[in-house]
Amino acid sequence: MIATTNPDVSRRTVGVTEKCTFCHHRLIKGREQAAFEERSMAESDYQPACVESCPAEAMYFGDLDAETEVAAHAHSARAFTLLEDLGAKPKVIYLNEG
Ligand code: SF4
Repeated sequence: MIATTNPDVSRRTVGVTEKCTFCHHRLIKGREQAAFEERSMAESDYQPACVESCPAEAMYFGDLDAETEVAAHAHSARAFTLLEDLGAKPKVIYLNEG
């Protein structure tokens, strides 16, 4: 396997671990494409790389405040977040086996 770098993401020095940015560069790209085509952004304009490439389709990403598949999952009885008692309202929501 040949190691490669993502041309859309700036490189960090050795020893620096990058926190997940929800692929912010993809958000910018999706916004620019929608603006170029003079329309509002659609959910399909912006999907994080890991969501798009997950072979098990185990991850969903989208607008929690709209009528989307991700919102339905997020508001289901199976949904939970880590450290809910802290009240931080994290944006990563997990689904238990149900
Ligand atoms: S690929 Fe996934 S884990 Fe990596 S930055 Fe994008 S959203 Fe975060």
